[in-house]
Amino acid sequence: MSETLSNGILEVTYVVSSVMFIFGLKMLSHPDTARRGNFIAATGMMLAIIATILFHHKEGKPIGNIGWIISAMVIGTAIGWVIAKRVKMTAMPQLVSFFNGMGGAAAALISMMEFPHVSPELIARSGMANGHVLAILLGLMIGTISWAGSMIAFGKLDGWIGDLRVKTMRYVNITLLAVLIGFIIYIMTRHVVASKELMPLIYIMFGVAAIYGILFVMPIGGADMPVVISLLNSFTGVAAAMGGFLYHNQVMLTGGILVGSAGTILTILMCKAMNRSLLNVIAGVFGGGGKGAETTGTIKEITLADAAILLSYSRKVVIVPGYGLAVAQAQHICHELDKLLEEKGVEIKYAIHPVAGRMPGHMNVLLAEADVPYEKLVESDEINKELPDTDVVVVIGANDVVNPAAEDDPSSPIYGMPIVRAREAKNIIVMKRGMGKGYAAIENPLFYHDKTRMLFGDAKITLQNLVAEIKKL
Ligand code: NAP
Repeated sequence: MSETLSNGILEVTYVVSSVMFIFGLKMLSHPDTARRGNFIAATGMMLAIIATILFHHKEGKPIGNIGWIISAMVIGTAIGWVIAKRVKMTAMPQLVSFFNGMGGAAAALISMMEFPHVSPELIARSGMANGHVLAILLGLMIGTISWAGSMIAFGKLDGWIGDLRVKTMRYVNITLLAVLIGFIIYIMTRHVVASKELMPLIYIMFGVAAIYGILFVMPIGGADMPVVISLLNSFTGVAAAMGGFLYHNQVMLTGGILVGSAGTILTILMCKAMNRSLLNVIAGVFGGGGKGAETTGTIKEITLADAAILLSYSRKVVIVPGYGLAVAQAQHICHELDKLLEEKGVEIKYAIHPVAGRMPGHMNVLLAEADVPYEKLVESDEINKELPDTDVVVVIGANDVVNPAAEDDPSSPIYGMPIVRAREAKNIIVMKRGMGKGYAAIENPLFYHDKTRMLFGDAKITLQNLVAEIKKL
């Protein structure tokens, strides 16, 4: 096949793949279409990879190392398949962080590999100061930050890396960022015969970017990780887009830009939801740092029988799902409870906090899995207006997202974060296993509130018993 024909097929396939990415992404915006959207985008990526292997030419020659490429793809696919099959729903955020980190690492490796091959003609024409070199350096910096940061985020979400907060961290981070930009300026203003001469600087730049990535995520704790995860996601997209510029590869560029812009939009929405400024995230000085005030008071419990009566004779009930619902995998029985109460004439809504659970949209995904109608899910801002008029709020495995300290206690690390104002309802039932803390590791005064009664136990078992109790009435 002639090179012109191969190039034509490749260009058309890239356009088709790009369109599939865009449609796929659009379909992710609703639970009903999300699964198909994911499949379409993944198929688009597969098409682009196969077409590149079959039709890409460099300097008149087809792509080489086919055996290596296919072996790497087979091994990668097998590992990805096994991990994705085995991962528990609650460990999904860690997995997303890990995969995101791999994307960043791939972008950084491309840059490290391509830098020594910057063509001598290009260097002779404009020294190192050209777009090609800039794309390599930005890909290296952003990809490495994303890789190192995502690995730390992975460890933190998995619970084996704790927060490290030192007051001077902000200045260290800003200095490191300035050093990285300094490296880019320095390298781009050099006049060298071959780019290889500057390789030691590239390795140092990689090291500094990795340290920045680590230090940038280390202090972030409390309830603020979601913002960082989506920010790192957008970094990986931008780093991949740099690869697209580098290789004049449209599909890599489109994919990178889509991930970068979707991640950026999500970051901004998350910042709004958490009431944080993006500047503070980048400087790594998130989440206050205080421990919050001591909480005192008495805990009151409610029996299953009393809870069943209270719920059955209510006019309006709002369910606040949280991470514990996902841990207990209680979404199906929770939906059964809501249907049962609805049959008794009770109005049921779900309060969806933007950072409930451990990943953006976690509660939406979980409840969609149990076929809870989408119309019943109401965002926290909206549901808050209805809570004074709500007979019972049932908090199921949620903690930080209903913690009034976010509004009342300036020393709390979650101070300023918008919450579901559960305490404004007439009655509050909280289902959790014990007095365990939430992700932010702080006390929750809601559990000691006059109107609150606790139903201790695993959420799934408690809900099963509650449903049985209501059926007896
Ligand atoms: P949370 O504050 O983490 O609290 C979850 C509660 O569930 C715990 O207090 C725990 O108490 C209870 N629990 C655990 N297993 C349970 C089970 N089997 N049955 C019943 N209860 C169980 O959850 P949240 O209110 O959903 O808040 C999410 C937190 O994670 C926020 O701080 C958020 O910022 C952070 N985060 C969110 C994301 C995201 O993108 N959504 C990402 C990373 C971090 P017991 O141990 O006493 O049962």
